[in-house]
Amino acid sequence: MKVFEQLKPKVVLAVAAHPDDLEFSVSGTIAKWTAQGVKAYYLILTDGSKGTEDRSALPSDMTKLRRQEQIAAGEIIGLSDVFFEDFEDGTLENTMAVKKAISRIIRKVKPDVVLCMDPTFIYSLERGMINHSDHRAGAMAVIDSVYPLARDHLSFPDLLEKEKLEPHKVKTLLMTNFEDHNYGEDVSEFFNTKIKALAAHESQIPNIEATTAMLKNFMSINGKKYGFQYVEVFKRLDLSL
Ligand SMILES: [Zn+2]
Repeated sequence: MKVFEQLKPKVVLAVAAHPDDLEFSVSGTIAKWTAQGVKAYYLILTDGSKGTEDRSALPSDMTKLRRQEQIAAGEIIGLSDVFFEDFEDGTLENTMAVKKAISRIIRKVKPDVVLCMDPTFIYSLERGMINHSDHRAGAMAVIDSVYPLARDHLSFPDLLEKEKLEPHKVKTLLMTNFEDHNYGEDVSEFFNTKIKALAAHESQIPNIEATTAMLKNFMSINGKKYGFQYVEVFKRLDLSL
């Protein structure tokens, strides 16, 4: 396995389909970095309106509630800001509109590191689960935005001409793939912060004790592979071009 130097970013952007996705995948890493003075931002692509089993809940109420939960979680891990897009939950596709929204934020905050899901993670035979189509479509849109759309001035020319957003080159892409990874970020000291941030998503996580036990087990198994107590795992891609 390739041995990477530790990342020392100044600005990072994490992008996901739904509120709570990033708490599961990257919040320990983000909490660690913000404690070191890194400026960190989230971009949530969908309105989160379908995330309930309560048949009396209105989609608009879900959107409002889940945004509040995401903002509260962001405060716990020290985010500088959370950006919300309004693409409909459950129907996200890798369209030019989604890619433009992501490219706009990349050009605005100018991250060294962008974090997202690995779009090639479609299902898990081991766990008997399918990775939500929004996760996959959103992640593919992030990759397309990092290269070439946010980077090249002739892509979305109005971003430069009208919004005065200069193109931006991202240095590293960290893609969450729980089963296939080449990089583990040591988050041992921030495991509890991660759990606090997850607990802010009350509407999605009814039993935080069970979630904590599951993550403790999973993150420590991966931790052993990288020589730490708890890690968050990624496919790390350092972009040379
Ligand atoms: Zn999700």
